[in-house]
Amino acid sequence: MSTADEKTYEMLWDCRFCGQKKNLGLSHRCCPGCGAPQDPSARYFPSDAEKVAAEDHPYLGADVLCPACRHANSRNSKCCSQCGGPLTAAQQVAVRAEQVGQQFAGETAQDAKREFAAPPPNEAAARKSVSPLAWIVPLAIVALIAVALFVLFRKRDGAFVIADKSWDRTVEVEQRVLVRTSEWCDSLPAGSVAVARHREQRSTKQVPDGQTCATRRRDQGNGTFKEVRECTPKTKTEGVMDDKCDYNAEAWKPTRTAKAHGGEKEPPTWPATSLARPGCVAIGCEREASRTETYAADVSEAKTGAKSSCKFDVAKWSRLHVGDPVAGRIGAVTKSVDCDSIVVK
Ligand SMILES: [Zn+2]
Ligand SMILES: [Zn+2]
Repeated sequence: MSTADEKTYEMLWDCRFCGQKKNLGLSHRCCPGCGAPQDPSARYFPSDAEKVAAEDHPYLGADVLCPACRHANSRNSKCCSQCGGPLTAAQQVAVRAEQVGQQFAGETAQDAKREFAAPPPNEAAARKSVSPLAWIVPLAIVALIAVALFVLFRKRDGAFVIADKSWDRTVEVEQRVLVRTSEWCDSLPAGSVAVARHREQRSTKQVPDGQTCATRRRDQGNGTFKEVRECTPKTKTEGVMDDKCDYNAEAWKPTRTAKAHGGEKEPPTWPATSLARPGCVAIGCEREASRTETYAADVSEAKTGAKSSCKFDVAKWSRLHVGDPVAGRIGAVTKSVDCDSIVVK
């Protein structure tokens, strides 16, 4: 939910005939120094220190420009106060772009005063032009990198021979052990032993943390502007603490890995695990857990001597034999065999 606070103030204008500065947009339709008519395009927003309230005036709309003499007249005028000409075809004066104040985290009266302390912005500030080099250079770099990558990873056809074959199989062995573990005390397993409590952050919550405010100024086109101050409540994240319980519990823990390795001559087999007290669930018992198997072959190219170790699935690996010629692709620069491309001739 946000709150908004609205007030109306006078725009300011400087006389370009006598140089009198900071004349009021609504109250000074003519220059108090020389009597020259107000130029509506010279209106600007004041700093906070120079604001003059225009609370009680009725707002009728933006001023209109006399088509004959360009004098700015109030919206409800039927004829020009300068030359007396009709205002039926008159156009509305141009208004300033909305001004947004600097934001401050806190909401104090001092912050609100600092928002528009800077002098009115110079709208004729030159726009920075973008040099064509700004995008040609990065584009050229990207193109060069693309060409370099293409050359580096280019592949060609090759004739290879299977130089060696091997297989590896492993079985993970787990042992039943006592471990120190912890759980939120309200979900502690029944019968837990050696319980110790401590405090720990369990979750977070959002709590109120002041508000963020921003001020906007909108030129109403009749010598006044409306200043709206909008404030939105802010929140911050805060930790929520709870009781955590440390306790002893039984668990399976990986303790060793049984391995088997062989070449083309040995058919792949699983390693013996020699479990201690297999089949029980008590401290000191062992069980078999995950298994892995890999099948590899060294693929070499006679022409260049390039050699890569490739992994294959067991079906493809079984069809390959040491000394067999195979076809495939190889990196022209990297000399690395593309294992997926290997086919039995
Ligand atoms: Zn003047
Ligand atoms: Zn006129």
